[in-house]
Amino acid sequence: MLDSMNDGPAGSEQASDISVGVRRRTGVVDVGGVGVGGDHPIVVQSMTNTDTADIDSTVQQVASLAEAGSEIVRVTVNTPAAARAVPEIAARLADAGVIVPLIGDFHFNGHILLPGHPDCAAALAKYRINPGNVGGKTWDANFARIVECAIEHGKPVRIGVNWGSLDQQLLTSMMDANAKLAEPRDGHEVMIDAMIESAMRSAAVAEEIGLPHDRIILSAKVSAVRDLVTVYRRLAPLSDYPLHLGLTEAGMGRKGVVASTAGLSILLAEGIGDTIRVSLTPTPGGDRSEEVRVARQILQSLGIRSFEPQVTACPGCGRTTSTFFQEMAQEIEGYLNERMPAWRERYPGVETLNVAVMGCVVNGPGESRHADIGISLPGTFEAPSAPIYVDGEHHSTLRGERIVAEFIEILEDYVERRFGAETPIAT
Ligand code: SF4
Repeated sequence: MLDSMNDGPAGSEQASDISVGVRRRTGVVDVGGVGVGGDHPIVVQSMTNTDTADIDSTVQQVASLAEAGSEIVRVTVNTPAAARAVPEIAARLADAGVIVPLIGDFHFNGHILLPGHPDCAAALAKYRINPGNVGGKTWDANFARIVECAIEHGKPVRIGVNWGSLDQQLLTSMMDANAKLAEPRDGHEVMIDAMIESAMRSAAVAEEIGLPHDRIILSAKVSAVRDLVTVYRRLAPLSDYPLHLGLTEAGMGRKGVVASTAGLSILLAEGIGDTIRVSLTPTPGGDRSEEVRVARQILQSLGIRSFEPQVTACPGCGRTTSTFFQEMAQEIEGYLNERMPAWRERYPGVETLNVAVMGCVVNGPGESRHADIGISLPGTFEAPSAPIYVDGEHHSTLRGERIVAEFIEILEDYVERRFGAETPIAT
């Protein structure tokens, strides 16, 4: 079942110092046919922000997220209406040919909704349990009901601790114990330890109830980058459960993208993390799929996975006073995006292609030689010619009005020769 997991259009894994050898060893959890952990590629996931009871909107958004590259999609299951909608959502996605595991996100009433809606429990590929939102005095019984449901339906769970909804009983008892120490630790430190304790203790209880070890994924999300790094560095050595990484409530726009990238990159570079989500707050009416694109770009920029050809473009400076090369970089990137669906079908491995579009002679030829194929445009006062480099060698020099069109012809020819099945060229 897992043989075909994470293959194909979702992206290929790239051998690199980051992903090979250094990655934390974990077991593998099968999430609806997608392998999380072990040697499986780090999985990109996302979450809808539609009302799950609104079947049309949720189906549409899950399909968009999957189309953007989300390999797992989580939906809120917060009401009986949402639980009733889940099987229909799963069925409509399957009818539309959208193959993506659906995860149910449960807080406060998962112990009621899951046993009360067996079709929902069966349609979901995994249940997310937040130990801080399972119940106070009835925590044991509520948690057990969810876990028993997972056992009955053969589903994995994510024990997802969150800074904003930490188990208050556990935190209070750890704070009290800390206060009695001769030299109490900083309260913030105790809180981080309480998150880890909550995750590990809940996983142990789930296993005691009978959930197999290889059906548990852990996460411990916080909203500050340094805390995120601290939490996961401490959590990672304690078990071989696969880890879900994400900065919770990362925020909007640039701040959310940069903060998520900063936090996730440090951990991923240390080999920590088996699935990631970038929790961006979209602008009103904004595109939810942006978080998927950012997650993929983080993995590709770190050399961990390849999804799309990459354009290396210089930032431009006083040597390029016209916008010609910016427009060209944009035009080439747009062309690559447009051609990728067809190329992906026809040319396996094309997602590893690297194209350089450079602004002048200073770094243009050098950077172009490092790329698979590159063009060095003429800067201000330079002769109006654009040398092309292919696989590190000077290929030709373009002049005149048709530089972009001619470069694209050379690019198409290169892709055909290098990635075409019939006559691949050695690299
Ligand atoms: S390659 Fe040339 S144009 Fe581009 S940033 Fe460097 S010096 Fe400026």
